Amino acid sequence: MNNAIIHSTVSQLSKQLRSGELSSTQIIEAFLERIKNSDSSVHAFLSTAGDRAIEKAKLFDQTRSSKSIESPLAGLPIAIKDVLCTEELPTTCASRMLEKFQSPYNAGVIEKLNQAGMIMLGKTNMDEFAMGGSTENSAFGLTRNPWDLNRTPGGSSGGSAACLAAAQAPISIGTDTGGSIRQPAAFCGISGLKPTYGRVSRYGLVAFASSLDQVGPMGQTVEDLAMLLQVIAGHDCRDSTSIPDSVPDYSAELHAGCKGLRIGVVRDHLESEGLDDDIRNAINQAIDVYRKAGATIVDVMLPNTKHSIATYYIIAPSEASSNLSRYSAAHYGHRAAPNKNLAKDTSALIDMYCRSRAEGFGSEVKRRIMLGTYTLSAGYYDAYYLKALKVRRLIRQDYDKAFETADVILGPTTPTPAFKLGEKSNDPVQMYLVDLFTVGANLAGTPALSIPCGKSKSGLPIGLQLQAPPLAEATLLRAGQAFQTLTSYQPEWPTL
Ligand code: GLN
Repeated sequence: MNNAIIHSTVSQLSKQLRSGELSSTQIIEAFLERIKNSDSSVHAFLSTAGDRAIEKAKLFDQTRSSKSIESPLAGLPIAIKDVLCTEELPTTCASRMLEKFQSPYNAGVIEKLNQAGMIMLGKTNMDEFAMGGSTENSAFGLTRNPWDLNRTPGGSSGGSAACLAAAQAPISIGTDTGGSIRQPAAFCGISGLKPTYGRVSRYGLVAFASSLDQVGPMGQTVEDLAMLLQVIAGHDCRDSTSIPDSVPDYSAELHAGCKGLRIGVVRDHLESEGLDDDIRNAINQAIDVYRKAGATIVDVMLPNTKHSIATYYIIAPSEASSNLSRYSAAHYGHRAAPNKNLAKDTSALIDMYCRSRAEGFGSEVKRRIMLGTYTLSAGYYDAYYLKALKVRRLIRQDYDKAFETADVILGPTTPTPAFKLGEKSNDPVQMYLVDLFTVGANLAGTPALSIPCGKSKSGLPIGLQLQAPPLAEATLLRAGQAFQTLTSYQPEWPTL
C-alpha cells in the first residue's frame, strides 16, 4: 500500500484522496515513513515536520466533508527548499549563518500553499544561500542523487529534486536564480519550472540575486507542475517586482497538443563541443517527436549565449554581495563569541563583524561576496557591472527576436548528465559552466521548463529544456504536456 502511495503523482493522489480511496493521513504517513527509511542515504531533508504534518492530515480528514470548495491539492504533502521562510520549521539556507534562525512569518508562497490546504513534509537541502550547482555547498552535508548515490543531484535545489526521485515527496518547491530548479530536475529525472520573473511572490524568499531569483514548482509530471503553479502564482504587493497580471487557468490549454506550435532550435547549442553525445541524441529525438506530431521546427539564434555565464557571474555575485551584507551578526545571523582580549570599543565591534562572517559563511559564499564587492567597487563598476548589464540587455534582445519566429525554444537543460560528487568542487569555473543553457532565461526574465527526455548509456536522466516568452507559462506547459503524452511518459523511481 505505502509503496503504491509514494510512487504516485500528485494528480493521482489528488484523485484517490477525493474519491475516498485514500486519506490524507495515510498519504502523509507513507511519505514520512519513506523519508525515515531512506534519508540516511540521500539526505534530501534538513528538517522534517513529523507529527505536526500528521496532525494536520488528521484534521483535514476529519473536517473535509464539511468543506464545499477545496483546492485539488488540499490534504497533499509538499517539500520546501530551505530558503523560504516558514513559521513552522527553521529556515537555514543551508548556512551556519542562519543555523539558528526561526522565521517569525511565512513566505508569500507558503501562505498560498497553506490556503490551498497543502501539508509541508519538511525543508530540503540546498547549496548555501542557493549558490552552487551540486548541493555540495550545504553547510549541513551534501545530498546524493537517488539514481547513483555517488553523483550529485544538482543544485542549488538539490534536496527538492532528490526527494522526488527518492519518492520521499510527491511534489516540491525550488528556486532558480541561474538554473537551480531546472538543472537538478534534469539530473534527477523529474520536471521543474522556472516561472517568469515576478510571476511568483518572492516575499519571504531569502535573497541571493534579487533581479534573477524566482520560486517555482518541481514534480513528476507537467500536469503536476501546472497544478502547483496554479496555487503559487499571482500578485503579491509585498514583493515590488511581483507582476499584477491575473493568473490564467493553466489546465485550460494543457492538453491542446503541439500541432501548429512553432518550436525553435538553436543549432549552435546542439552542435557545441561540450555537449554530451547521449544528450545530443536525446534532444534530436525529442525534436523528431514534435515534428511528427505536427509542430513546426524552426531555427533560431541566441548569439549572446556565449557571454551569458560571464554576465551572470558578474551580476549574481554583485547582487549577492549587497544582499548578504545584512548578515552582520548585529541584526541578523550567527554571532561569534566575544574576544575577551579586546577593549570594549570599536575594534571589538569590527572584530565581531569579521569573525562572525568568517565563521558563518562557507567558502563559495565568501568567494561570491568578494567577487561582487570587487565588481561593484568604484574603480571597476563600469568595466564589470555596468558592462554586464549591457550584455544582459543584448541577451534579452536575442530572446525577443527568437520569439518573433518561435513560440517555444527547445534545447538541452545541461551539457552533461549528473556528475560525480567531488568532481567539480575544487574548480569553481567548471562548476559555473554547467549553467550554460539555463542562465539565459534568468537574465532575460523568461519562463523555462525542464522535463525528462530519456537516459544516458549509463542510465542517468537527461533533461529537455523548453523556453517561452514572458508570462507564456501556459504555452510552456502545453508543449511539455504534449511531449509527455506523445511519449507515453511514466515517472520512474530508482530503487534505493
Ligand atoms: N549554479 C548557479 C549559481 O551557483 C545557479 C544557482 C541558482 O539558480 N540558485 O549561481
